[in-house]
Amino acid sequence: MPTVNSVPDISVIVPIHNEEGNIPILHERLTQVLSGMEVSYEIVFVNDGSRDRSLVLLRDCAASDPYTHYLDLSRNFGHQIAVTAGLDHCRGQSAVIIDADLQDPPELIIDLYQRHQEGFEVVYARRRTRKGESWLKKATARRFYRLMSRLTHIDIPLDTGDFRIIDRKVIDVLKAMPEQNKFLRGQISWTGFRQTAIEYDRDERHAGKTSYTYRKMVRFALDGITSFSEAPLRFVTFLGFTCSGIAFLLALYALVSYFFFQEEYVRGWASTMLTVLFMGGIQLIGIGIIGEYLARIGANVRNRPLYVVAEQSDQEEQA
Ligand code: UDP
Ligand code: MG
Repeated sequence: MPTVNSVPDISVIVPIHNEEGNIPILHERLTQVLSGMEVSYEIVFVNDGSRDRSLVLLRDCAASDPYTHYLDLSRNFGHQIAVTAGLDHCRGQSAVIIDADLQDPPELIIDLYQRHQEGFEVVYARRRTRKGESWLKKATARRFYRLMSRLTHIDIPLDTGDFRIIDRKVIDVLKAMPEQNKFLRGQISWTGFRQTAIEYDRDERHAGKTSYTYRKMVRFALDGITSFSEAPLRFVTFLGFTCSGIAFLLALYALVSYFFFQEEYVRGWASTMLTVLFMGGIQLIGIGIIGEYLARIGANVRNRPLYVVAEQSDQEEQA
């Protein structure tokens, strides 16, 4: 039997944001799967500013099960950062990242680990189907992954979330990547190594509701794009040249008609307005795109800690 203090084979990292309805059953199912696997393991829950009873339940889990630990972040830092905190604190030879809502079936860890043992440093779980999610979410997600693969050079696998197993080598590379705007699935792909996928059917949320609002999804998508692609900036440059080209042709036309055809060309309120508005719009879009990059550069320059830990189980052990 695994001992509590040795380096475990698997650390399971679970970000928690208002998951009181899922924690007990999740803990039970994880324990069942992991204890049947002939590996040593630890479960690391990261409470990401929950406002329900999640933290109390996590304390209970950790008190009753020596293989379970928790971190309590001082407020809601967001899913990607919660997972990052878990990765920073886990000790395993490999880490499984899994959602708390049982949309990712814990039983799949067996297959993930098996593929990992065959020599793959990253094994991600690709969603064959997704149940219980709105068509809008599925459609935007699909669009987004297609867009990402066109915009970036790195190969972000289509239709995968963060449910995956990664080797200690990958965890160490991730820990050395200092960026503030985390887009883990892209960063993991960037690390290289041997990566493969297994397929699964995504279940519905067991209890509670999603905390990924469309707003958060847009922010997340922008993080992904800005950290892996300069294409939007190039697009602005392209727009600039195109507009200048059109302006040049129009200028030629105006001059020719003025000098050769003596047309005063005083009409044209509509065309002037259209041009002004069109150019104004394009300039604002350009500034906005630059701003997205600039804001992220600002965050990286300030270089604040990514998260603050308010409380953690077995403090003395981890110190
Ligand atoms: N989560 C988190 N912080 C947040 C939002 C979500 O730690 O700010 C956790 C949440 O508890 C869950 C996982 O991230 O374990 C995925 O969240 P959710 O199920 O809401 O996202 P969805 O599956 O709808 O994309
Ligand atoms: Mg979910």
